[in-house]
Formats: sequence, C-alpha cells, structure tokens
Amino acid sequence: CGVFGIWGHPEAAQLTYYGLLALQHRGQEGAGIVSSDGRRFAVHRGLGLVTEVFHSDYLQRLHGDRAIGHVRYPTHGGNRLENVQPLVFNYRGGELAVATNGALVNAEALKHHLEQQGSIFQSSSDTEVIVHLMARSAHDELVEAVKESLRLLIGAYAFLILTNEKMIVARDPNGLRPLSLGRLGEAYVFASETCALDAVGAEWIRDVEPGEMIVVDRDGLRAQRFAPVARRAICAFEYIYFARPDSNLEGVNVHVARKLMGKRLAEEAPVKADVVTGVPDSSISAAIGFAEASGIPYEMGLVKNRYVGRTFIRPDQAKRELGVKIKLMAMRKVVEGKRVVMVDDSIVRGTTSRRIVQLLRDAGAKEVHVRISSPMVRYPCFYGVDISTREELIAAHKEVEDIRRTIGADSLAFLSLEGLLDAIGRAGPLSGLSRGYCLACFTGDYPTKRV
Ligand code: 5GP
Ligand code: SF4
Ligand code: MG
Repeated sequence: CGVFGIWGHPEAAQLTYYGLLALQHRGQEGAGIVSSDGRRFAVHRGLGLVTEVFHSDYLQRLHGDRAIGHVRYPTHGGNRLENVQPLVFNYRGGELAVATNGALVNAEALKHHLEQQGSIFQSSSDTEVIVHLMARSAHDELVEAVKESLRLLIGAYAFLILTNEKMIVARDPNGLRPLSLGRLGEAYVFASETCALDAVGAEWIRDVEPGEMIVVDRDGLRAQRFAPVARRAICAFEYIYFARPDSNLEGVNVHVARKLMGKRLAEEAPVKADVVTGVPDSSISAAIGFAEASGIPYEMGLVKNRYVGRTFIRPDQAKRELGVKIKLMAMRKVVEGKRVVMVDDSIVRGTTSRRIVQLLRDAGAKEVHVRISSPMVRYPCFYGVDISTREELIAAHKEVEDIRRTIGADSLAFLSLEGLLDAIGRAGPLSGLSRGYCLACFTGDYPTKRV
C-alpha cells in the first residue's frame, strides 16, 4: 500500500490526489482520501485505480487544508469497499481517520483479545485494530492513547491518523516500511515514497525514523519516540521491486541501487549473449546495469501494455497467468535468432519468468538466459508484501537447476545476498555502513517477534 498526508495547504485534497497517483504502483485495488477543514471530515473512497475512484467533482467536495490518502494493495482482507482506507471512525465524540501501509504480525491475537472484551470490527483489515486499542486506552489525550496502542503492535507499518485537530504519523520500530517527511511552503507532507513528495513539488526534509511518532497540529510539528531503538530493517524488496525508481529510500536512490544490482549480477553470473533485456517496468534499471557491466547491448526485447495493472496483484493464479499474456509482448525484430539475457527483479511463484521465457522463444530467441537481480525467495513475508505462503514460493522447494528447468531457460542465476547488500550499500551516501535491511524472505531471519 501507499500513504500520503498533507497538513496546512488550501489544496490539500487535490495534492493528496496527485500524491496518490505517484504512489499508484504500490496498490491498485482501491483508493481513498479523507480531508478536514478543522471542523468536519469529507470522505471519498472506492475500488479501483486513483483515476477511477476520483472524479473532479468528488475532489471538489473534499474541502479543507488537511488530508490523508491511501492506495490499497490487498494482503489482508478481501477486495471489498469496507477495507478501502482511510478507515473512518467516531472516536470520543469526534471523527478519526486512519491509513496504513504494512501488516501486523500480532493482528489476529490482538483482535481476538479485543473481541473477547466486546469490540466489534467493521473491516477485515489490520488497521482497525489500532483504533480499537485506542478506544480502550485509559488515556484521555489522543496522542497518549495512540502511543500506548502503538506499543502493543508487532510488525511493519507506516501510520497516518487524522482528526479534525491533529495529524499523527508513526513508523514501526524496525522501519520495515518506508515513510518520508517533506515541506511544501508552510505545509507538512508525509508520503510512503519521495516520488510523491516530488509529484506535489514538496521538498524532502528527512525520513520518519523507525519507532518515531510525529504530531502536527496548530502548534506546529513535534517528533517523539514511542518505542526504544530496535534493529533497523527496511524491507529490501522496496529496493528490489516495490518502490519507484525515482524514489530515495533512506537516502538511497532506487534506480541507482537497482543498476548496481544488475552490475553485480553480471559480475557474479556472466554469460555470452547478443542482447540484454529487462521486464518493464521493475527490472529495467537492473537490466541497464547488467548491460553496462557486461558490454552486451541493452535492447527493448519486451514491450508492456501500460494500461494493465501489476499482474502479481490479481488475486488468483488463473487470472494472474492470463494477466501476463495480455500485459507483455516480445519484440521479434529484437530477439529473433539472438542469444537473449532476460533480467528480472525477482522470482516468487515462477509464473512470470516461465511465461516470459516462452514469449521470447516464440518470438524467435535462440537462447534465453535468465538473470534475477535478487536472491532466491524462500520464506514468506509477514510484513505486507504478498509473498505469503511457503507452498507458493518456487525457491522454497526447488534449487536453481530445478527452477531453470521449470521456467524453461537455457541458464539461470540469482544475485547473491552479499551482492544485494553491496549494491544497496554502494548506492547510498553511507556506503560501507550497515543501515540494516529486512532480508527475511531470503534468509528466514525475521526482524520482529513472530506470534
Ligand atoms: P512470479 O511470477 O515469480 O510469482 O512473480 C515475480 C514477478 O512479479 C517479478 O517480475 C516481479 O517484478 C513481480 N511482482 C509483482 N508484485 C510483486 C511483489 O509484491 N513482490 C515481488 N517479489 N514481486 C512482485
Ligand atoms: Fe520485505 Fe522480504 Fe522483509 Fe517482507 S520479508 S519485509 S518482502 S524483505
Ligand atoms: Mg516484474
């Protein structure tokens, strides 16, 4: 998912709309905006893409100088309108809206506990859990109630909470999910990725710190910690696949990091070939890096129909396979009779790679060498990326040679874990220093407690 918030701008809802458009790659299933003029909320939410959900007349009705918005990527909870965020509640005589990116490891346990104490849940999303925790808090003061509730959560999250008087923002203690802070004139802006700050012309100030809570109200902005310093673990998959190439995560540009992953991959697993191609859009940067390092020319071997959403996001396998067919085309002119290196960012279930190898062969490729710019995904993710069950993960059961055969490639190689870390490290301003990443889907070493 992606979140965006703005405080103190007369065009708050319009800018949130632009911010959500810039975050659309983070979720295409639903979108919503809640705005406020300091007295009352205006809400609009719907299923589908940002442009499908918001027509200009809806935007005009979203009055006020403060707003939060969300784009939804379904990991928990079905594809239903009541799960589209921001969720809105009546809270102690006022209105309260919540938007989150991430997933709680202990959501079920907390929910069970709350239900036993009489809480009734409206949606199946994790987000509602925090509101029920707040409702039960002994603290009268909202900020204290939020803080107390956050301390009970285990998992990955970037939270935006809006009331008519305040915006409260928090990032999980490990910093698993990204969240940045920017300024636009007098206004404060929060976004999952810096590309959304750029989209509205805001200046990046800093990333929200892991375990930090920021409160914005008419007295300005105040930051405080709600949790002790924990192991830093931003999701490595943000760099590999999830984030947009023009975003900077913790000071590291995503495109630069991906190019270095491709470069390193070319060094680790060289191959004789005629052309290198990426799979649009997520692996283009890595493919360019591979081409540069290997001296094999980069070519546009695959063309994407950009009006078809991310295939991964289709809820079941049949639809996903169909999605791949209508989404990608191989360029016969480029690949016919050639030895092709196909660089992709990841193999999760293996469906995409198998299809693409077949597409390239059907278009006349003589050899297809698959190079993956991330290590083998062997373990499920509990932090909001849809790599949920081990059975689905092809690398959980198969070794490289087995996978190569399954996807029908002439050769196959994955980037090493050291190579991945080295690439992200080199791309950043702190190269050499360990900033700390979550690598759990590769290693099985989870940064949080598991419940
Ligand atoms: P597979 O077909 O192997 O299950 O999926 C891998 C492909 O899905 C890659 O090309 C990657 O770009 C894309 N993809 C889409 N959504 C996700 C996601 O949430 N995580 C990962 N790792 N890959 C995804
Ligand atoms: Fe990201 Fe993998 Fe960690 Fe999930 S397990 S947060 S996908 S690095
Ligand atoms: Mg892809």
